Amino acid sequence: MSDIQATRLLTPGPTPIPDRVRLAMAQPMIHHRKAAFKEALAECQELLQRLFGTSQPVLPLSCSGTGAMTAAVHGLFDAGERVLVVEAGKFGERWGQIAAVRGLECVTLSAPWGRAVSARRVAEALDADPSIRGLLVQISETSTGVMHPVQEMAAITRERDVLLVADGISAVGISPAPMDAWGLDCLLTGSQKGLMVPPGLSLLALSARAWARAERVRPSCFYFNLPQERENCLKNQTLFTSPVSLVLGLREALRMIFEIGLPALYRKQRGLTAMARAGVRALGLELFAPDHYTWGLTSVRMPADIPASAVVAEAARQCGVVMTAGQAPMKDAMIRIGHMGWVDWADLAAGLHALARALPRAPQSPYLESALDAWHAAMDHD
Ligand SMILES: *Cc1c(COP(=O)(O)O)cnc(C)c1O
Repeated sequence: MSDIQATRLLTPGPTPIPDRVRLAMAQPMIHHRKAAFKEALAECQELLQRLFGTSQPVLPLSCSGTGAMTAAVHGLFDAGERVLVVEAGKFGERWGQIAAVRGLECVTLSAPWGRAVSARRVAEALDADPSIRGLLVQISETSTGVMHPVQEMAAITRERDVLLVADGISAVGISPAPMDAWGLDCLLTGSQKGLMVPPGLSLLALSARAWARAERVRPSCFYFNLPQERENCLKNQTLFTSPVSLVLGLREALRMIFEIGLPALYRKQRGLTAMARAGVRALGLELFAPDHYTWGLTSVRMPADIPASAVVAEAARQCGVVMTAGQAPMKDAMIRIGHMGWVDWADLAAGLHALARALPRAPQSPYLESALDAWHAAMDHD
């Protein structure tokens, strides 16, 4: 790289890759059915179960996060069954689209973008329609920066014959979502967000009762066969050819995560979130998710006269910081600052500075001081 400044990726996936992970992936190829690779999968398995907070196997699948969402819907429900879909953003919509292709009947619980759906509304919808067999929800809705109250929702679904399927793609490794303790029936994530690995690998775990369902559902596609995938997983194998290099990268990333420890990791993520929110407010901008906000990214509502895509482009040009605008229909109305994975306070300070430089108006107050104060306050707190 000949540039005088580093490029900093502050996007909600893919996220920056630590050097240790990049080097692990640069190893010569090994064969996916031989001992060295089985050892790598075994080590990943032990660490993934700790990360997911489950005693069940965590299946590695060769696909992006949407593939794991697809595998969950096809593996847990038969065509014609009814599911409740929490839809308050782009990824909630995606649950609905996947369920529709599977031939499920969807009951939709929506909320305006920027707001969470309450557990009370889930309970009311399930009371009103006892034929509903599943709840499809994001823990963190990456298109809006909202965190849905999935732990409270699980307290409701676990009392009923309703499987809670949680898209944790921008939550796992970012904020706590202990699967067994909360009573989630399916937790899934992708490699390119909190896990600090390139895109292309996803991870999925099922509860005991979800496995009982998965064994009864008629397979509807050849590639995603969860019971067969589990059989292979128990032998430290995958059903088809594993994405070998990504798994070696994942092993290194998981080692790093457990060297830091989950409590410290979550504390850092919470601190970065406090820092981003304080900085954005001090810049004179409005936060898009006012109360139920996620820890992996901060969404900023742009004033009508300042198009987000122009600001994002300017921040990249001037400061080398890559952020993202909104997703349709919020394209120019929102900026999303990613701070999940291998990102620290100094990266985020660079991001806030890039945002300030790219805005056509001067910041309202000393935004970096406010941001750094919030970071230190959060880190000193416990
Ligand atoms: C990124 C993301 C997805 C999509 O994942 P792909 O890897 O692009 O398929 C789905 N849901 C959430 C919550 C995400 O953050």
